[in-house]
Amino acid sequence: MIDAALARQVKLVGLDVDGVMTDGGIYVGIVADHPVELKRFHIQDGLGVKLLKAAGIPVVLVSGRESEATAVRARELGVDELVQDSGARKLPAFEAILERRGIGFDDCAFVGDDLADLPLLKRVGLPIAVANAVSEVKEAARLVTTTAGGDGAVREVAEIILRARGVWEELLQNYLREKGDVEHRAARSR
Ligand SMILES: [Mg+2]
Repeated sequence: MIDAALARQVKLVGLDVDGVMTDGGIYVGIVADHPVELKRFHIQDGLGVKLLKAAGIPVVLVSGRESEATAVRARELGVDELVQDSGARKLPAFEAILERRGIGFDDCAFVGDDLADLPLLKRVGLPIAVANAVSEVKEAARLVTTTAGGDGAVREVAEIILRARGVWEELLQNYLREKGDVEHRAARSR
């Protein structure tokens, strides 16, 4: 858990992709003479991203690989930014985003699993490791999720931050209302 003050400080959430939004596995093959790469994302992470954004917190994906599968998922989720740096130089890429948005490292959370995330995790105000992270990343983290990457870890992070800010219930009610919950109940009470 994190305290309310730290949670309220978060103005942007950065996410590593492989091993955080996925279990780190990659399906590699050839289809019609073209190399293809497929990844398995967890559907519950999608609502986590949506609720963070609904709370006014931009979500940024920072990957150390270039992958069309990642780009497709990023578009689907409507994340605010996606960086795919094939050299896994995540820190300068993230720093450029923060500078452009006028946000400091102290006001960011970042979720990672592997060594390439360490430079970033050491800078942000709320460093988070997923359950499947390597030991060095867990040691650098302020919070370690109980859920593994690809298994809903991003959803868990979103819920922890939003609950600590005291806005989870309201966001949930808004979401359910958006899905017609109030109308449904009203119709039944008639
Ligand atoms: Mg990773």
